[in-house]
Amino acid sequence: MIDDYRAKGLRKKLVRTLQEKGIKDEAVLKAILDIPRHFFFDDIFLDHAYEDKAFPIGNEQTISQPYTVAVQSSLLSIKPGDKVLEIGTGSGYQAAILSKLGAEVYSVEVIKPLFMKARMLLTDMRLHAKMFLGDGSKGLPNLAPFDKIIVTAGGPKVPELLIDQLKTGGILVIPVGDKQVQRMLRIIKKSDKELITEDHGTFRFVPLTGGDGWR
Ligand code: SAM
Repeated sequence: MIDDYRAKGLRKKLVRTLQEKGIKDEAVLKAILDIPRHFFFDDIFLDHAYEDKAFPIGNEQTISQPYTVAVQSSLLSIKPGDKVLEIGTGSGYQAAILSKLGAEVYSVEVIKPLFMKARMLLTDMRLHAKMFLGDGSKGLPNLAPFDKIIVTAGGPKVPELLIDQLKTGGILVIPVGDKQVQRMLRIIKKSDKELITEDHGTFRFVPLTGGDGWR
């Protein structure tokens, strides 16, 4: 894995594109500048790594579009030391960005080959994330509560169990809709009884599977 001047230049260009599209969070932009996205691609697809596009990673799954990663990461307002649960490790890129932002990352993936590959890559990159294989649609109850939860696959509803696993003041960012198109929701848990739900626009994700996803 080599991170050369060409790749660094392409990342600078990608960051400018994200700024033009309205991403303002400096810490998120810096993390995108610092993490070599091409490490998460097979060599033959290197040229695609710095386009602002989602891309297939095998097993009918995708690495999210950089803009989507930037929006979800910004909505989480990560503070160093935040305990963050990601559902849908995929390539591991979003987990790497969260780790770079100083979060203590817990990431769950349901497809074994993707889990294995992402775990090995993050270890090689010396990025710290605790990786789990299994259905993440019900969260990780034994390791809860979390400061923040991010879901990177589209579900039919907001899983109650994820709200339960948030600390008071915690934030859940999740795309919810049908199998084709979803709305990006940010849910802030003000107290056990009060949730604030914001809508941050239309996105397209692969489906969240599992018990609280699309069965
Ligand atoms: N965050 C990823 C990245 O940075 O590459 C992109 C995620 S990809 C759009 C969605 C991922 O969610 C897929 O890898 C899929 O297998 C996974 N997934 C879907 N349903 C899941 C579930 N119930 N539990 C865990 N992972 C799930």
